[in-house]
Amino acid sequence: MEKLYPFLLILSVVFTAVSFTVAFIFYRKYKNLSAPKIFEDENLSPEDRKLIRKIKDPLVNEPCHEHRDQLGQGVCAICNIVLCEECVKEHDGLNFCIEHFRTYLEHDWEGVETIMTTPDTPEVALPLYHFKNSIWQDEIPSIIRTHYRINIEQDIIESHVSLMVRRDDYSLIDHKWKIRNN
Ligand SMILES: [Zn+2]
Ligand SMILES: [Zn+2]
Repeated sequence: MEKLYPFLLILSVVFTAVSFTVAFIFYRKYKNLSAPKIFEDENLSPEDRKLIRKIKDPLVNEPCHEHRDQLGQGVCAICNIVLCEECVKEHDGLNFCIEHFRTYLEHDWEGVETIMTTPDTPEVALPLYHFKNSIWQDEIPSIIRTHYRINIEQDIIESHVSLMVRRDDYSLIDHKWKIRNN
């Protein structure tokens, strides 16, 4: 029986350590969950889920719109077409097709709205992507830029997602955006 004591002592130490670790993991998980979480929820349409996957992981696995035998290296920030290495124009950390590279350089761009998301809540920025698509149907170009900031307090990476339009379009688009959100 006495031989059993050291064994029990070790067992209880191990048990305590495991309990603390599990409690800590749950605490961290709970902290992250405290933000509203509807990602991967059935409320999202299949298109939105696809869109979120694309936002989170923008690697392109589709062929270039111009060269079907070349794999895409990027997507135009304005018209969303897939571009191979030869077709893609990189500037300011954004990708453009040749036409929209010119559009980008020839204008001043102004931010209409910025939405902050976290890795757990990428879906809160979806309205900006939907709005971008809707104004593009009227051939009004816009760009979505994302700036990342580390939130040390909450130990998360914040994404500040901004919709930018040409200065000449700003009043009209800002108005449309406000109407849409009322
Ligand atoms: Zn383009
Ligand atoms: Zn190409």
